[in-house]
Parts: sequence; C-alpha cells; structure tokens
Amino acid sequence: MFSENHRKSGCIEVVCGSMFSGKTEELIRRLKRAQFAGQAIAIFKPAVDNRYSDVEVVSHDFHKISSTPIKDPADMLKVSSDVQVVGVDEAQFFDESLVDVCQALANRGIRVIVAGLDTDFLGAPFGPMPRLMAVAEDVQKVHAICVKCGSLANHSHRLSKSEDLVLLGEKDVYEPLCRDCYNAARAREEQEKCSPKLFEDD
Ligand SMILES: [Zn+2]
Repeated sequence: MFSENHRKSGCIEVVCGSMFSGKTEELIRRLKRAQFAGQAIAIFKPAVDNRYSDVEVVSHDFHKISSTPIKDPADMLKVSSDVQVVGVDEAQFFDESLVDVCQALANRGIRVIVAGLDTDFLGAPFGPMPRLMAVAEDVQKVHAICVKCGSLANHSHRLSKSEDLVLLGEKDVYEPLCRDCYNAARAREEQEKCSPKLFEDD
C-alpha cells in the first residue's frame, strides 16, 4: 500500500489523521521496528502536550516510547550524529519552522517520521502539517471510525464550545466524525447559536 521507507538516504514520512485515528500508534510502530533493527532513534514532541507524561510519546491505548518535549523545533537539529531516525508526535502544535527543520534533518540522511492532526476542529489544515505533507516523500492518512454512522472518519469534532485552537483532550472533548456527520453537526451548532430554544428538547 504505502511505501514505508527502505531507502538509505534521508526522507520525510507523514502519518496524519483525526483524533482517535491511530496515528501515534503508527508512529510508534515504525519507530519500534527501526529500534529493533538496531537503528538509533530520537523522538520529540511539543512541550505543550503533557496529557499523560512529560517524557514519553504516549498513545491513547498506552503503547509508549520515550520522547523529549521541546518548544522550538530547532532543538531537533542538535541530535547526535549517530541518529538515523527522528520521530515527531503531535506535530500540528509546532510552528512552521518545523518544516525547514525536518528538511534539514532529511538532507543529513535522517529518516524523519512526523505524526499529527491534518486538520483542526474547524476542519482547516493544522499548523505546519499541510507544508510537511507537500514536501514529504510519503504521506499516510489514517482514519478513525465515525461514532455516528460507522464510516471512516477524518474530522475531529469538538464537543466543548471552546474556540481555543489548542484544546487537548480525550473522548470527553472530541469525537471522530465522517464528512457528512461532521457537516451535519456543524450546521446544527450554527443553528443552535441563532435559535437556542429550537433544540432545547434534544
Ligand atoms: Zn458518519
């Protein structure tokens, strides 16, 4: 299906999708395989994401792997020269400079695997993800299952009313929805804003 990297030269791989799509699990799978093959790996995540732990990339089903929380993507450039694979989780929370940093690492011969949300809760491309997807050698979109109809989901629908772009959370804050169910939910929310009484009994 997708061409997981077997090259000796550097490259960028992107694994992206909605909340609950298994993108962190896929990142961890690729990193653990590289580790098993004796390759030196380094893993980073934005310092903003401290849902479970400050030093580990932790996925929702608690597979985990040690990582370094950083604020500035440029810190990744300091990896030691023996590192062959660099993993980045929750990449959407980094600024645009992540793209140049990943390019620089790949140009050094490093395999860079980046996982992140492709779109935010409003359905817009999230942070540096669209540019990363454009320059990557390989992009894999992973999907959650729509909690309303069982189709493949590619939207992270926010259940809370917060407008804050960075709102971390789990099942109480987001639900994965397919395009149709997401559009229906958003339309309904817009209507509720205009006429709150209409939906009081739901
Ligand atoms: Zn659906």
